[in-house]
Amino acid sequence: MTTNASSPAKTGKVYLVGAGPGDPGLITLRGKYLLEHAEVVVYDYLANPKLLGYAPKSAQLIYAGKKGGGLHAFTQEGINRLLVDHARQGKMVVRLKGGDPFIFGRGGEEIEELAAEGIDFEVVPGVTSATAAATYAGIPITHREYTASVAFVTGHEDPAKESSNISWEKLATGAGTIVIYMGIKTLPAITRQLIDHGRSPDTPVAVVRWASTPQQRSVVGTLATICEVVQQADIKPPALIIVGEVVKLRATIDWFEKRPLFGRRIVVTRTREQASDLVAQLEEQGAEVLEHATIHIEPMDDYRIVDAAIAEIGSYRWLLFTSINAVVYFFRRLFALGHDSRLLSTISIAVVGKATADELGKYGLKADLMPDTFTGEGLAEALLRTGIQDSRVLLPRALRASEMLPEMLTDAGAQVTIAPVYRNVPPPGPKEELRDQLLAGSIDAITFTSSSTVTHFLALIDATGGDAPRRLLDGVTIAAIGPVTAETIREHGLPVDIQPERYTINDMVRAIVAHYRDTARLAD
Ligand code: SAH
Repeated sequence: MTTNASSPAKTGKVYLVGAGPGDPGLITLRGKYLLEHAEVVVYDYLANPKLLGYAPKSAQLIYAGKKGGGLHAFTQEGINRLLVDHARQGKMVVRLKGGDPFIFGRGGEEIEELAAEGIDFEVVPGVTSATAAATYAGIPITHREYTASVAFVTGHEDPAKESSNISWEKLATGAGTIVIYMGIKTLPAITRQLIDHGRSPDTPVAVVRWASTPQQRSVVGTLATICEVVQQADIKPPALIIVGEVVKLRATIDWFEKRPLFGRRIVVTRTREQASDLVAQLEEQGAEVLEHATIHIEPMDDYRIVDAAIAEIGSYRWLLFTSINAVVYFFRRLFALGHDSRLLSTISIAVVGKATADELGKYGLKADLMPDTFTGEGLAEALLRTGIQDSRVLLPRALRASEMLPEMLTDAGAQVTIAPVYRNVPPPGPKEELRDQLLAGSIDAITFTSSSTVTHFLALIDATGGDAPRRLLDGVTIAAIGPVTAETIREHGLPVDIQPERYTINDMVRAIVAHYRDTARLAD
C-alpha cells in the first residue's frame, strides 16, 4: 500500500467547511486545502459551485442543495446519512456549506449526528453572509458613533406566531444593528414587530441579495417603507435584511457596486490555456465574466519538421514567435528532445508582442526584436529592416495560421521554415447555453483577442443552428484587442465598438472601462 503524505485523513472523517458567502475568494485557506484533498464533497445551494474546482478530479461531488421553499434534493436526515455512510467507507468527506456552517446552517445538527455515530469530524468557520452582505453593501455593522451591538436573527420563523423563539420585544430596541437571515418572505411581519415594539419607523433598512457575487443587488428604505421597496424591486431570496442607523453609512462607503464594470456581463473568448489575465482584470473591475473556449489546443502527432530544425539550429539566424502557444509548444518539444534553453544561444529571437515576450522570459530568454506594431505584418517589417536576405528563419507555430508573415519574409529572400508545433481544434462541450444567453440579451459585451477567436467563435454559435451569428450579437458590445482582430470582425459584417490603442490586455481592459464610463455619462 502506498501512503500519501499530503492526505490529512487515512480513516474516514467529515470536515464541515464554511464556503463563505458567494465570492469564491472568501473561502478560508484551510477550507481550500481540505477541498483540494477531498474524496467526497457534499455541497449546498448557497456554496459557490466554482469552489468545486479545487476538489481533485477523482472526487465524488454530491449536490445536497436545499433551496428555501423549493424542492429539497435531500432531507436533512438524508444528508446526515450520506455523511455518515461515506465516512464509514473510510472517505475524506468535505461538507461544504454556504457562509459559516454554525450560523443558521444546521451545521450543529449534522455534527451531533456524526458525534452520535462515533465519526471523526472537524469544523472550519466561514465568512457568514451577514457580515459579507453588510461589507459589500458598504455598511459597517458596528460603528462607534452609531451602535455597539449587533444581533443575527433568523426570519424563517413566522414572527407573528405565538411561540416564536425570538423575543422581538427585546430585540427591537435591544440591539443597535439587527441582521436578519431568511427574512424576505416574512419581512412585513418582521418590520411590524420591530415598530410595534418601539423601534422607530424611520430606522434605515437595507436588503442585500446574492451578496459578494456579480449578481449582488441592494435596496435601501426604512422600517416603514422597506416592504414596498423590496416588492417594487422584486427582491427574492437569498437576501439579508440589515436594520439600524449604520445603514446610512452606505451613502459614503458603498464600493462593491460602484466598481466600473459592476453589473456588466462580459464574454471572454479564449483558447483553453489562455486569457486568465483578461478574466482576472475584468473581474477586478467588477464585471461578471463568462469564459468561452473557442479553440482547443492540441499537440501535434508529428514533430519531424521542428525536430530537424532543432538538430541544425546553429544554421538559423532568426527564431520567430507569433503567439504564447508557439513559445510553450516549441519549448516543450525542445525539452522533450533533451535540450535546454542554452541551445538557442547563437540564434536571434523575435516576438510579435509583449505577452509573447513575457512568455519567453519564463524560459530565461529575452527577445532581440519586438515590433512597435504588435502584428505579424509589423514583425515582418521590423525583420526586413534588419536585412534578412538569405538568412534562415525558423517559425514554430500552429498547423494552420496566417501565411502573411512567412510570405513577406520569403519574398524578401529569407529561407523560412514553418514548423508546426501545435494544432487548433474546436472545443468540446455544449454551446447552447451561450446561444440562449445571447438570444435573451443578457450578454453586455464580448472580447476577442485574436482573429482565430473571432472565426472560431462565430463558427461555434453558428453551429448551434438557427439565427445567424450577426443577429445573435445584435446589441452586444464588441471589443477587439488590435487592428487585425478588428479587421476580421468587420469582415464578418460585425461592428467593432472597442479597440485599444495599444494591443495589450491592460489597454483592452482600460478601453472597456472607458467605454462604459462614457456610456454611463451619456445616459445621465
Ligand atoms: N450559513 C449561512 C446561512 C444559511 S441560511 C451563512 O453563514 O451565511 C440561508 C440564508 O442566508 C439565506 O436565506 C439568506 O438570508 C442568507 N444568505 C446566504 N448567502 C447569501 C448571499 N450571498 N447574499 C444574501 N444573503 C445570503
